[in-house]
Amino acid sequence: MLASIGLLDNTDPHTRHVFDEPTELAVRHFQQRRGISVDGAVGGETYATLTGAHWKLGDRVLAHESGQLLTGDDVAELQTQLIELGYHLVRADGVFELSTAEALRGFQRDYGLLPDGICGPGTMRALRQLGRRVVGGRPQLLRDMVAVADSGPSLLGKRIVLDAGHGGNDPGVVADGVTEAELVWDLASRLEGRLTALGVQTWPTRGPNNGATDEQRAQLANDVGADLVLSLHIDGFVSPLANGIAAYYYGAGESSSTIGERLADLAQRELVARTGMLDNHIHGKSWALLRLTRMPAVRVELGYLTAESDRSKLCDPRFRDTMAEGLLVAVQRLYLPIADDPPTGVMRIPARAH
Ligand SMILES: [Zn+2]
Repeated sequence: MLASIGLLDNTDPHTRHVFDEPTELAVRHFQQRRGISVDGAVGGETYATLTGAHWKLGDRVLAHESGQLLTGDDVAELQTQLIELGYHLVRADGVFELSTAEALRGFQRDYGLLPDGICGPGTMRALRQLGRRVVGGRPQLLRDMVAVADSGPSLLGKRIVLDAGHGGNDPGVVADGVTEAELVWDLASRLEGRLTALGVQTWPTRGPNNGATDEQRAQLANDVGADLVLSLHIDGFVSPLANGIAAYYYGAGESSSTIGERLADLAQRELVARTGMLDNHIHGKSWALLRLTRMPAVRVELGYLTAESDRSKLCDPRFRDTMAEGLLVAVQRLYLPIADDPPTGVMRIPARAH
């Protein structure tokens, strides 16, 4: 058991069945790690904790059983995920109590599953689909931001999927002979050049002349293991008066992507500050691309092609450079420690020396 959780080297056949010094040391390590009094002896509590330690989430069906409560690391993992998703649980103690079943039912209800409080294959699949992308609750936002900042302010080696909306037979919004598809393709190319110069690996979700479904775009992002997805669109409306910029992140019910929300907020603020366009704010949505991607994904609607003022700006290549710059700064700010985060609209990023 100790070997299976990496605390003991189990390769020597002579000592495999001997409770020797290395074994005792491993027991002590385990006890210390689990907050059990450290005596190097395997008593009832240590044995019970050790038995639960090799269960990984998905190994068995988890449910509340009266009498003998189910315990194990898989229970703790489930509890941790539920807490991160924003469901109320005091702690991830690895014991499947009634409160765990209640929190699980909350998740199942929100996700459209049968709320039976049993963590079986269907619930496991749903949890796996959400992956590390969907987390909720303000304390979690802070923990996430620390994790992102820990990954370093450098963009070098980051993997970003650039999704120019529409394409091919689908021009998106068309106004005054200009199409959304060609403008966002141009914007994505400008952003791609800037990101590549900083050492970011980028993937486009389509070519200049073809389109893809949202499902295909999400699949690509998942396949390449992207860190972020930036989806570029331009809005349109029957009234020519509708104008301005909005950004969208994954959010549905109690669940939302905190990093997605943070990036949407940064992009929105940088774009509004740099372009002077109307601020239509950020919003949580469960659109396919946001929902099916396992990493933070943000969709920006970069103005209204149907509004004369927005359209004339978007048709100016220098203006599109300004927008690409704003998006680049938003991505860079996402990876800066909070304390170093500069005020909106002022940061400039010098390209790496060649
Ligand atoms: Zn669009």
